[in-house]
Amino acid sequence: MGSRRDFLEKLTVSTISLPLLYNPTNLFAASDEAYDGPILKVAIMGLGSYARRVAKAMESCKRAKLTGVISGTPSKIVEWRTKYGIPEKNCYNYDNFDRIKENPDIDVVYVITPNGLHKDQTIRVAKAGKHVICEKPMGINAQEGQEMVDTCKAANVKLLIGYRMHYEPKTVEVIRMRKAGEFGKLKFFQGQSGFTIGDPTQWRLNKKLAGGGAMMDIGIYSINGARYMLGEEPIWVTAQETKTDPVKFKEGVDETIQFQMGFPSGAVASCLSTYAMSHLDRFFLNGEDGFAEMQPSTGYGPIKGRTHKGELKQPHITHQTLQMDGMAQLIFEGVEPIVPLDGEEGVKDMKIIDAIYLAVKTGKRVDL
Ligand code: NDP
Repeated sequence: MGSRRDFLEKLTVSTISLPLLYNPTNLFAASDEAYDGPILKVAIMGLGSYARRVAKAMESCKRAKLTGVISGTPSKIVEWRTKYGIPEKNCYNYDNFDRIKENPDIDVVYVITPNGLHKDQTIRVAKAGKHVICEKPMGINAQEGQEMVDTCKAANVKLLIGYRMHYEPKTVEVIRMRKAGEFGKLKFFQGQSGFTIGDPTQWRLNKKLAGGGAMMDIGIYSINGARYMLGEEPIWVTAQETKTDPVKFKEGVDETIQFQMGFPSGAVASCLSTYAMSHLDRFFLNGEDGFAEMQPSTGYGPIKGRTHKGELKQPHITHQTLQMDGMAQLIFEGVEPIVPLDGEEGVKDMKIIDAIYLAVKTGKRVDL
């Protein structure tokens, strides 16, 4: 097995001039190819339900390994230590995790806590000199997002956002088709993202911890999806809110928002974000020469879809496995996913969310 230093030296030569792009036909996590390159050592912060899913998916990763945890719940640390063989010295709580600075067993911290905590936690991780993967939404507004980007840049660490769809094979294929011009001039995108939320006491319905409501949590998939399906940045938004349960969805916590976006090419998007409808997970893209339809479009999969050329048949591979191997490739080799998932990409979505909330409040079109 070559040493990490040998690997990185070889890499320097190969990465000087070549723009490296993630190749969906060579799905690394799924291949039987042996691997003896560097392994990304990951600590997860916030051991909740999504963290469990990520940790399980990482069991199948070749390039990333769970090596540490940061949690406010001692009993979870005991459970995770046993389950994943994590040594005690790699376990932290929210008071002492700045000490990861001295821990060579951790390259990156994956922040999977409530949205309202992401900014401060990301900044602390960056200041400890470790790369950050932060779940979506990256913060609770664009200003927070920009602060996170600036701090990570100053600390010379990477900031990646958990946009797992950027590695999902059928999504990657539709984006490839769009980039190859196979849909012709694009005219329209429709994104519908929602589910019926349960327990009214959960943090997702708490303005301080969630930053908002459905838009922050699930509507963001339609925003990010509109951008990667159309391949453009919106220049205006309009939005309308509907609230049927003001007790459950308090001031500042959106239940349902319909929003529209206009793009420089003249394409438009019409989207729905909600915490009050089930089975709502659908993308539709229309161009002069073809279409793509995906349903489900952003759930944990399998994603299903078809285009004017027929059914999308790319394999289903656990999204978070692909994501974590892909992020390891990005960090070690500079291999970019088909659409970026860095902090700047996260800020673009946050700016649109800010504009949507402003459009709801004012009833006016907001230019971006
Ligand atoms: P959970 O409530 O299941 O878990 C959050 C964890 O954060 C808790 O278990 C807790 O872990 C920790 N935490 C720290 N402070 C608090 C606090 N004040 N209140 C509540 N929890 C706290 O949430 P999810 O795992 O569902 O979501 C976490 C993040 O992941 C969110 O940003 C969400 O948007 C994102 N997410 C992304 C998904 C995706 O597909 N990309 C899917 C689902 C969620 P501990 O006890 O260890 O401290």
